[in-house]
Amino acid sequence: TTFADLGLSPNILKAVDEAGYKTPSPIQEKAIPLALAGHDIMGLAQTGTGKTAAFGLPLIENLMSDGYKAPPKNTKALILAPTRELVNQIAENLRAYVRKTHLKVNLVVGGVSINRQIQNLSKGTDILVATPGRLIDLLDRRAIFLDKARFLVLDEADQMLDMGFIHALRKIAPLLGTPRQTMLFSATMPKLMNEIASAYLKDPKKVQV
Ligand code: AMP
Repeated sequence: TTFADLGLSPNILKAVDEAGYKTPSPIQEKAIPLALAGHDIMGLAQTGTGKTAAFGLPLIENLMSDGYKAPPKNTKALILAPTRELVNQIAENLRAYVRKTHLKVNLVVGGVSINRQIQNLSKGTDILVATPGRLIDLLDRRAIFLDKARFLVLDEADQMLDMGFIHALRKIAPLLGTPRQTMLFSATMPKLMNEIASAYLKDPKKVQV
């Protein structure tokens, strides 16, 4: 299987090629066609399996079908991850994948100046990568709005469980636009994760590597 076989368009294939990826990893092979078809995804996968591209590439493909628009004030996609390091890593990967497109990736994490983030956000965002705590801070300050977001990714969801994730989701999820495509990735599936999945995912396709 090649990336082209998965149904990705030339601009994305070019970026993937420049990133040095030769063939899709197993999680990518399974998740990308399902995500492109619009399904919600429940992915059981560890870090290092290529899951960032598994959710990122179809997300970018879907956003590109909106045609060219300047980065909107209200983000079109939200990716939540547990730590600063992971958010940075996801954003860095996504920036490589969007290089041949007009899409803008922004990130917000705790522990750094919120004012600079507010200023950055005011310039527009297509894809926002965030830790839940800082995102809620920015929502409370009305520096970011999620009502136009049609894509939600919950990455390393099991790690987020220990950090008030359920409380954060209760607050964040109702603010997102509808209809919405949701992808949840987790290295483990504790019982609680199934409850979260049934609350926030619609008929999810299970993908496991
Ligand atoms: P991830 O699991 O998303 O953190 O990815 C782990 C590492 O594998 C990252 O450095 C990616 O850039 C890289 N990677 C992801 N997909 C592929 C692929 N299909 N071929 C080669 N490297 C990849």
